[in-house]
Amino acid sequence: MDDETPPASFGFETRAIHAGAAPDPTTGARVTPIYQSTAYVFDDVDHAASLFNLQTYGYIYSRLTNPTVSVLEERVAALEGGRGGTACASGHAAQMLAFFAFMEPGDEFLAADKLYGGSITQFGRSFKKFGWNAIFVDSDDPENFRRAMTPKCKAIFVESLANPGGVVTDIAAIAAIAHESGIPLIVDNTMATPYLCRPFEWGADLIVHSTTKFLGGHGNSMGGVVIDSGKFDWSKNPKFHALTEPEPAYHGLKFHETFGDLAFTVAGHALGLRDLGAAMAPMNAFLTITGIETLALRMERHCSNAKAVAEHLASHPAVSWVMYAGLPSNPYHALAKKYLPKGAGSVFTFGVKGGYEAGVKIVEGVQMISHLANIGDTRSLIIHPASTTHRQLTEAQQIAAGAGPDVVRLSIGLESVADIIADLDQALAG
Ligand SMILES: *Cc1c(COP(=O)(O)O)cnc(C)c1O
Repeated sequence: MDDETPPASFGFETRAIHAGAAPDPTTGARVTPIYQSTAYVFDDVDHAASLFNLQTYGYIYSRLTNPTVSVLEERVAALEGGRGGTACASGHAAQMLAFFAFMEPGDEFLAADKLYGGSITQFGRSFKKFGWNAIFVDSDDPENFRRAMTPKCKAIFVESLANPGGVVTDIAAIAAIAHESGIPLIVDNTMATPYLCRPFEWGADLIVHSTTKFLGGHGNSMGGVVIDSGKFDWSKNPKFHALTEPEPAYHGLKFHETFGDLAFTVAGHALGLRDLGAAMAPMNAFLTITGIETLALRMERHCSNAKAVAEHLASHPAVSWVMYAGLPSNPYHALAKKYLPKGAGSVFTFGVKGGYEAGVKIVEGVQMISHLANIGDTRSLIIHPASTTHRQLTEAQQIAAGAGPDVVRLSIGLESVADIIADLDQALAG
């Protein structure tokens, strides 16, 4: 589908609407159809054989590839400036796929300690069952990654803008440390989206997204995607033999030698999705493609609404602090200006005077804002981590995770900003 993709010189908004898509060749349908088909008819036995041998590009079975999902993969790759993408069932599936490409039992990787809570659990607990060991590092000082590096480390994983918000990662400095050790930097760009931050331009090698959040943008479909820059030389370091040595399941095919800068993406489908099975549903790809068409407009408004709400809360008598990198007083403000020049996203936390009880009162007091565990919706969302996502932790653990008893997290939506502020004000007055 390369010839359909607009050139990389096209603007971000143009790529968000056109990349990867063309009118349907049979019907002329302008919008990418939902190819709700499990399998695809072969021309003949030779055609089938060449598809199964990965000698011809085409569709076999929707666990591996699907035409609607392919459009989404090309679109996100075009927005990130990457070579190719592998879409899958969720953000967590994307993280699983990214590591599955090269991790073996006993291998290690370094991960920032400031991550989405679910990622800390996935890396710290479930990955252990595969023998993959995550070493968590305080990401505020990039040198900590150099100090923690071990010979068994095969990647560094960070979030560009870390959930629950306000934390900005020094991607370029950490990429340099990864490359000194001959390993890739993986960046979760979910909270920033490629509209606000493009990690490949700062040296990242792989990007993962939970498309569930701002890319889909409407709170209606789970999804994830891994994007490969195509620039990491897998053959240079013998650690990455899974991508360079003969693959028995494909008659000894060597992915990197055969597919070059598409090796990671082809393996993501032909090995990762084939065996892990976490394929994205075509309907979810359709909804996510549609969401991405308005990404630039939505992110602009998400950011301006969030900034207005953060400024309002910062001077509110019932609020003790606001953690939003878009505020000049924030410790990450300088990094935000470098990596997120168009805005610091729309997810942030604030502290309410009166601790746990006051936090509970606010989430129960809001009327328009939804009390739920998600981010990146058109709707404004609120959660009190200490009574929900982090309730099983001790108070000391909650505070360490940025989820102390007084912490309230907001994901500011696209409603009229005056209505968002009024709803918070009445809940705070409660
Ligand atoms: C939500 C989220 C994930 C996990 O994505 P799912 O689609 O829920 O599996 C990973 N990273 C970040 C930053 C997230 O916000």
